[in-house]
Amino acid sequence: MKPLLEMKNIVKCFGPVKALDGVSITVNKGEILSLCGENGSGKSTLMKVLCGIYPHGDFDGEIVFEGLPVKVKTIAETEALGIAIIHQELTLVKELSILENLFLGAELTRYGMLDFDRMYAESVALLKKVKLAISPETRVGDLGVGQQQLIEIAKALSKNAKLLVLDEPTAPLTESETQILLDLVKTLKAQGVSCIYISHKLNEVKHISDQICVIRDGVHIGTRLASTMTTDDIITMMVGREMKQL
Ligand code: ADP
Ligand code: MG
Repeated sequence: MKPLLEMKNIVKCFGPVKALDGVSITVNKGEILSLCGENGSGKSTLMKVLCGIYPHGDFDGEIVFEGLPVKVKTIAETEALGIAIIHQELTLVKELSILENLFLGAELTRYGMLDFDRMYAESVALLKKVKLAISPETRVGDLGVGQQQLIEIAKALSKNAKLLVLDEPTAPLTESETQILLDLVKTLKAQGVSCIYISHKLNEVKHISDQICVIRDGVHIGTRLASTMTTDDIITMMVGREMKQL
C-alpha cells in the first residue's frame, strides 16, 4: 500500500539559520507518527512546510500525498487535500459559539447561509465524535483549554481530515483532558485517520505512536518502530548522547 504522506529531503532556511537540513518522513494510512526533538530542533517548521504556512518555493524537497506530488501554496489548499494542523496556540474565536467556530468560513460554500438546522445537527454529531456532551451554542470562551482543544479537533474532522497534525496538543492540558485527547487520537486511528503527533511528554509518545521520528538541529536522526524503543532511547537520539554522560 502506498504511504499517505511522504516528505522527502526537506530543507528550510531562515536567513543563515538552516532550520531543516534534509528531513524525510513517511506516514502510512491509519498510522500515528510522533515527531521528537529538543526545542528549536525544527519540528514546528517541518509541520509549517507541510501545511502551506511556508509555501512551495520557500523550501527545498518534495511532498507526496496519496501518491501524488503536491505543491501547496496556502493553508486552504492543504486543508482541501485532507491535512489539518492543530497548533499549540488555539485559533478559535472565543466570543463565538462552538457551532459558529466549527463552520466559520465554511457556511457559504458548504451549507448556504440559512441552513442552520443542518449545521446544528452536524455540530451535535461532531461534538459526539470528540466526546463532548455540551450544546453547540455554548460560547467557546466559556470552555476550558482541554475542551477548546477538542473543538479544534472537531473542526478538523468537519473538513474530513485524513491526516491530523497535533503540535504539542497536551502541553496546556490536565491529565484527564490529556487522556481524552489520546483516546480520541486512537479512535480516529481505528477509523483510518493518520496523525503526526508532536510532544515532549515521552511516555505519552511511547504509548500512542506506531513510529517515532527524531530530529536534532534540523537533521533527521532516525525513525523507528515505537515498540522497539524505550524513552531513554528516544532521549539519547534527541540529545545525541547518553543522558548518563550529561
Ligand atoms: P521546534 O518546533 O522543534 O521547537 P522550530 O521549528 O520552531 O523548532 O524552530 C527550528 C529553528 O528555526 C530554531 O532555530 C528557530 O529559532 C528557527 N525558526 C523557526 N521559525 C523561525 C522564523 N519564523 N524565523 C526565523 N527563525 C525561525
Ligand atoms: Mg515547536
